[in-house]
Amino acid sequence: MEIVESILNLPVQDPPGEDFSASDLSWTKVGNVERYDDVALILYDRVDAFIIGECCNVEFPTRFHIERGRKRSRGSLKDYKHDDYLEYRLYWCSFGPENYGEGGDILPSRRYRLNTRNRAARPQSMRGCTCHFIVKRLYNRPSLALIIYNNRRHVNKSGSLCHGPLDRDAIGPGAKKIPYVCNEIQQQTMSMIYLGIPEKNVLEKHIEGIQRYCGSDAKVNSLAAQYVHKLGMIIKRSTHELDLDDQASIRLWVERNKKSIFFYQDTSEHDPFILGIQTDWQLQQMIRFGHRSLIAVDSTFGIKKLKYPLCTLLVFDSRQHALPVAWVVTRTIAKPDVSKWMKALHDRVRAVDPTWKVNGVLIDDAAAEIDPIREIFSCPVLFSLWRIRRSWLRNIIKKCSNVEVQREIFKRLGETVYSIWDGSDPFVALEELSQDFVDQTAFLQYFKATWVPKFG
Ligand SMILES: [Zn+2]
Repeated sequence: MEIVESILNLPVQDPPGEDFSASDLSWTKVGNVERYDDVALILYDRVDAFIIGECCNVEFPTRFHIERGRKRSRGSLKDYKHDDYLEYRLYWCSFGPENYGEGGDILPSRRYRLNTRNRAARPQSMRGCTCHFIVKRLYNRPSLALIIYNNRRHVNKSGSLCHGPLDRDAIGPGAKKIPYVCNEIQQQTMSMIYLGIPEKNVLEKHIEGIQRYCGSDAKVNSLAAQYVHKLGMIIKRSTHELDLDDQASIRLWVERNKKSIFFYQDTSEHDPFILGIQTDWQLQQMIRFGHRSLIAVDSTFGIKKLKYPLCTLLVFDSRQHALPVAWVVTRTIAKPDVSKWMKALHDRVRAVDPTWKVNGVLIDDAAAEIDPIREIFSCPVLFSLWRIRRSWLRNIIKKCSNVEVQREIFKRLGETVYSIWDGSDPFVALEELSQDFVDQTAFLQYFKATWVPKFG
């Protein structure tokens, strides 16, 4: 077994084809006899192709998520080694690394089937898989990425294969046919059910997800339908009323769901109630689809019948479908309070991936505080145009009595917005607008007080 000391003379590999995997690369042992790593050097531009290839492993189909990341800025190191990183990412198989139960305790990955008639006893999601690798974008050669494969086998801590068609623990009725639903898909399905999306649509999306593991046939589809229906029933029957006193009930819930809470402020004399919820799956989606893209803050998304306002943060996947990535339950919109939860959320994402950055935040509410967004996400704030125009229209109709004038103002507002997008000075356009409609005092008062400060 040959072990080399440095990565300096490793060849740069660039396997043909759209995607490739670990088996298409030759691996070199780097280090010393006591401690060495399997590494390969590839072009940084092809990291995504490698990750896709690893996900499409026939024996262990899975996904990999970023478990941890770090970053250095260029020029920050005076002395550096050949394998120092500019960007560092630890990717972990989504059937691992741990299996969390209620309260955040780690459950052992079950190695045998429990003696029960309930098929759900076979754990279907997190399996304690230890397969993971590191991708380092090299500090002194940023066009290259060093892959360090720490554990290529999809096994749990006790060394047993823990998911995929070769997993011998997959026993029980129809087990060969029922694929494990990896954590990512399970959480996606649960989130959709929680949001009240119709079962038919949830099922469609669920089947789309599991088809990657098992292809499509009638049996698989009917089992998937049962699974989604059962999840729906469990969620419907579950109650969050853990105590007769609401505040005590919330405290209990928070205690049991620590892992999915990014901010919690109990009601007190000085502070209002704030609860920020984000599951692991949502965190991963926020990292994946929010990076160099848009986040929308929606103050009315989904459920309207709640006593407390619900604010939802959304990202858009590759097909422009909105995915909820965090929920905030609170009545306060005061700047210091908004800053608190927003900072906690931003820190949570950056703790996993320090390179994460959002290009813009889209808001739909004129009353929203935009300073915290600008300060924390350091990006422009955009307005959801159709929502805004709808609220303009409502106010024009309420505040101007003449239909002709209503129509004219609405048209001009539209033109003004587009001219701002074309790079014109918003204040010149708004000044013209207020001169032309100087007699419409009620509307102008509303507009100046509510909207003009937001254009700055
Ligand atoms: Zn795995």
